[in-house]
Amino acid sequence: MKLCIVIPCYNEAEVLPITVEKVSDKLAFLCDGKKISEDSRIVFVDDGSKDTTWGLIEKYSEENRFVEGLKLSRNRGHQNALLCGLLTVKDNFDAVISMDADLQDDIDAIDQMIDRYRDGCDVVYGVRKSRKKDSFFKKYTALGFYKLLNWMGAETVYNHADYRLLSRRALNALAEFKEVNLFLRGLVPLIGFKSDTVYYDRDKRAAGKTKYTFRKMLGLAFEGVTSLSVRPIEIIIRLGSVVLLAGLLVLIYSLVQHFTGNTEAGWTSIMASVWALGGLQLLAIGVIGKYIGKIYLEVKGRPRFIIEKNTFEE
Ligand code: UDP
Ligand code: MG
Repeated sequence: MKLCIVIPCYNEAEVLPITVEKVSDKLAFLCDGKKISEDSRIVFVDDGSKDTTWGLIEKYSEENRFVEGLKLSRNRGHQNALLCGLLTVKDNFDAVISMDADLQDDIDAIDQMIDRYRDGCDVVYGVRKSRKKDSFFKKYTALGFYKLLNWMGAETVYNHADYRLLSRRALNALAEFKEVNLFLRGLVPLIGFKSDTVYYDRDKRAAGKTKYTFRKMLGLAFEGVTSLSVRPIEIIIRLGSVVLLAGLLVLIYSLVQHFTGNTEAGWTSIMASVWALGGLQLLAIGVIGKYIGKIYLEVKGRPRFIIEKNTFEE
């Protein structure tokens, strides 16, 4: 089996030497055990780093038989860098594992991922057992992120980031998703096929600082919700209906007050218009939003189905 490990890197010069050593030792070990073939590779995708990351990748690609590199023209963000790596290598390998450059994902889970692949899985998710070594802030923002995603109707695998194995078949299916706004961990479950999960402990960063600033994390969360679900629009519609209903009750109430002579002049009309119109407007915005949501889904041009097996060939 020809395996490729894809690792996006943004300003990772500090951790890269350790990563190259650990991951290539792992591949060498897997080669010795005949689990993967000698032409397996590690592909580093430099996401427009401003430090010496690319120079290091070039150096290692000459020194180390496993290492290859790709350099993006500028910083495009983790998800895009990862997709670039996956789509560039997909036709040359049987399966691809994506992971981060900082070795937070336990590389010993690779063995199990390969075993699952051999059992016939096209997708193997790496899921974190614990976050004991994450900072308090990281842990709770991350948990909040998964909760928010689920509540907003975006289906994702809990506590799974971008550490996963995809077979060539799964990658070809992923390539059918043409959307530019990218949230890979929401797309992969949509591919289907047989999948499984392996668990690992998430470690501290081997070196360097996080490249996901709070801003980038918020951006990812927003991307996740808006690219997977039109639930926010549905919430507006529901809110609009409730306000409109309340508006009708207020209308009746103000009319009763008006005819029993309990009011100042003008009060009834103001009450009625503020409430009923407010509700009507919210509802109308929701309805327009619904159509925009439809347009959004159409524009993405996602595949309508992916065939897993057929009996035509053979
Ligand atoms: N990364 C990237 N482009 C970016 C930001 C991050 O390619 O704009 C890479 C980074 O080099 C790392 C991975 O994405 O390999 C995950 O980033 P990090 O470990 O900093 O995130 P955290 O684990 O703190 O969530
Ligand atoms: Mg990390």
